[in-house]
Amino acid sequence: MVLISCKNCHKMYEKQNYDDFVCSRCNHLVRKRIKDSLQVSIALTICAILLYIPAMLYPIMEVTRLGVKVESTILGGVISFLEYKSYFIAFVVFTASVVIPMIKLVGLLFIFISIKVKVKMHNNRKILIFKFVEAIGKWSMIDIYVVAILASVVQLDEIFNIKGGIAATSFALMVILTMIAANRFDTRIIWDEQ
Ligand SMILES: [Zn+2]
Repeated sequence: MVLISCKNCHKMYEKQNYDDFVCSRCNHLVRKRIKDSLQVSIALTICAILLYIPAMLYPIMEVTRLGVKVESTILGGVISFLEYKSYFIAFVVFTASVVIPMIKLVGLLFIFISIKVKVKMHNNRKILIFKFVEAIGKWSMIDIYVVAILASVVQLDEIFNIKGGIAATSFALMVILTMIAANRFDTRIIWDEQ
């Protein structure tokens, strides 16, 4: 007899073996481990890291004012906020779009590598890092909201026009890929004997 819990709703089942079955409470497919969870999560995290580069280097928005186009990167925006003495906004933008995504990507990559390579750290601490990465995840979309809201509010065609740049697309994709990577990761792997 083995005890298996549904990863989605945590209902416990007593089964003969680890064969896959559908949860009777939430219709979620229950398996011993999510298939290729670590490989898929590593691949998604690497893609997200690659997307982080254009997100930082290319303009996040294009402002066209009386036909003159001004482009601004995330860091350029932070510097302008500092110049206008808007320290709080500068801090929020910098934290949400530069620091948090970086912590998330480094944290995830660290956990994934620590499973492959022997790292002297207690599994509880790895779970803690993972929980932290999951918890701060929701705050990194703030930047996209700001561009989206600005673009929809200030849209006066040729006179004044704000458009999301290449970085906005890369940034949104990066956040989504990081979210899937974290969500697709089966934390039970951490406890498996290697
Ligand atoms: Zn369930």
